[in-house]
Amino acid sequence: MGYDFSLKGSSYHHLIVPRRFGGLTTYENGAVLMQSTAHNYLHTIEKYDLDIFNCITKAMQNQKEKEYIDIEDLKYIKACLVYFERYYSHLKTSKGKPIVKEYYITRRKI
Ligand SMILES: [Zn+2]
Repeated sequence: MGYDFSLKGSSYHHLIVPRRFGGLTTYENGAVLMQSTAHNYLHTIEKYDLDIFNCITKAMQNQKEKEYIDIEDLKYIKACLVYFERYYSHLKTSKGKPIVKEYYITRRKI
């Protein structure tokens, strides 16, 4: 999703078939994301805007099919994130915390 990556702090995301629908934790079904940024942010987006989540998921699935990181897919994902942030960056959760954490934006590399 355009964030720095290292194995430390990474986590598995069920990309093709979600875990709630019986998706397996396999190479073919998943993507490895940084937990504190991309993974948490992606599921925040899923909670608040399923259309944007589905657009980002489709772009990540495209990358998985290609088996490489395509800069055009990353630009598309960034556009989705910026669109989400336009509507949600000034809103807070029911617990009073920002929906879009500042480091979701500042740690993004693209
Ligand atoms: Zn996930």
